[in-house]
Amino acid sequence: MDQIKNIEAIFIDRDGTIGGTGHFIHPKHFKPYEFSNDAFKLLKEHGIRMFAFTNQHRISRKEASITEFQEEFLSFGFHDAFICPHSEDDACMCHKPKPGLLIEAARKHNLELKNCVVIGDVGSTDMLAAHAVGALKILVLTGWGKSSLHQHREIWKDIEPDHIAQNLLEAVQWLLKIPQKTPVRN
Ligand SMILES: [Mg+2]
Ligand SMILES: [Zn+2]
Repeated sequence: MDQIKNIEAIFIDRDGTIGGTGHFIHPKHFKPYEFSNDAFKLLKEHGIRMFAFTNQHRISRKEASITEFQEEFLSFGFHDAFICPHSEDDACMCHKPKPGLLIEAARKHNLELKNCVVIGDVGSTDMLAAHAVGALKILVLTGWGKSSLHQHREIWKDIEPDHIAQNLLEAVQWLLKIPQKTPVRN
């Protein structure tokens, strides 16, 4: 698939995509990667709505609250945040790879999901959820991205990301067709 002409919204996973390691980090301690703020700025400049979509099962263990996550995403400039607080065993409809969070967002914000983009670091959750609703899917190689492509590839072997980006900023630059200046790494 090519870039979408008129992107209605971008869904961005949190852990391993915006910042952190891919593991749970409490909102008190979570910091976006340096380049993530540039990605948020670009999307804002282009008037593209950003929605967070994230599994946070530690909420069900009372280790953090939904409000703490929502406040975090709003502070990053997100328009709204869709959060699954359940554990995998709760049989909810929103735990990624289920597409419930995307469907809820589409309903709430009147979105056509095939004109939306999903960016995440995990094939077996983010990419499968995106695939289920026909959204454009970009895998980033931060967080679990590299292992998603290698040791865990068989879990989502039937689908291909539409694009693989080094990180969130490069994903956004690709979407907006902005030439990427790869920084010199010593
Ligand atoms: Mg992640
Ligand atoms: Zn859920």
